[in-house]
Amino acid sequence: MESDKSPIYQTLDLPLLYEKKVHVVVKRLDLMHPGMQGNKYYKLRYNIMEAKKRGHSQLLTFGGTFSNHIHATAMASEKAGIRAIGIIRGEISEPLNPTLADARQQGMHLYPLSRSEYRDKQSDQVLGKLRSVFGDFYLIPEGGTNAFAIQGASEILSDEDASMQVIALPVGTGGTLAGIAGSALPHQRVLGFSALKGDFIRKEVRHLLDSHHISLTIPVEIQTDFHFGGYAKFTPELIDFIKQMQIQANLPLDPVYTGKLFFGLFELIRKNYFPKGSKILALHTGGLQGIRGFNQRFGLDL
Ligand SMILES: *Cc1c(COP(=O)(O)O)cnc(C)c1O
Repeated sequence: MESDKSPIYQTLDLPLLYEKKVHVVVKRLDLMHPGMQGNKYYKLRYNIMEAKKRGHSQLLTFGGTFSNHIHATAMASEKAGIRAIGIIRGEISEPLNPTLADARQQGMHLYPLSRSEYRDKQSDQVLGKLRSVFGDFYLIPEGGTNAFAIQGASEILSDEDASMQVIALPVGTGGTLAGIAGSALPHQRVLGFSALKGDFIRKEVRHLLDSHHISLTIPVEIQTDFHFGGYAKFTPELIDFIKQMQIQANLPLDPVYTGKLFFGLFELIRKNYFPKGSKILALHTGGLQGIRGFNQRFGLDL
């Protein structure tokens, strides 16, 4: 694949950070090439290379109607010249929402799966049905997390990040966090903020690390208090925070992942969780494409 442009860094300049003497630098993965940005790009890179290496002419993956993963897969596949099939949970209603319209425009073939079949999407039965419809394909799981994704995510951190002490990032499946945890330096620690409700994610990440033979030599912690009701759930407080960050810090955030990351991070800073002088690198993992659909669906003006 084409080489990626290096992400841009943004140092946040806000009264709270002065008061607490904490440095926050944002690594803007959202500002890379428009078609290849965010953590999903890193997660897809080696998967697409592997699909081609194995001689596949198409790949297939799963996602909801607003999925960043579906969107990124469509973009990256188009760039790499491989056909992409997007299996969408529930119905695909026309006109398409902005996420699916982009995906189709990049040539992704969209195919709906009933919610009950979608639940069993990894079963032999459902995969067999999809193979009878589409023929052979390279399979990427929902959310994109597998060994190749973790390998890709381990390239998010670079030499320029060596002086940072804390790496903060949002967590969905934990695939990105697993890659970061395996590639952070000995003096760094990793702090994930779960976008989903519940403590299960800690176990899941431990399982991910074990099954990919990543043995931790640094502290890795996941905050589970900033889910705002669960995946893609939000409150007026979160929406207000996102708007304020845009105005005061010129930092665009999405309500599903990065908004929750920064809300949680600032809450911890406020509570003196980090010693004075701490250098925090916050990963802006992308996801801004989803805002358009979010606004339409909930009548918001983000
Ligand atoms: C998918 C996604 C995440 C979560 O990544 P995981 O590897 O599933 O933990 C975080 N931020 C954004 C913007 C995403 O799209």
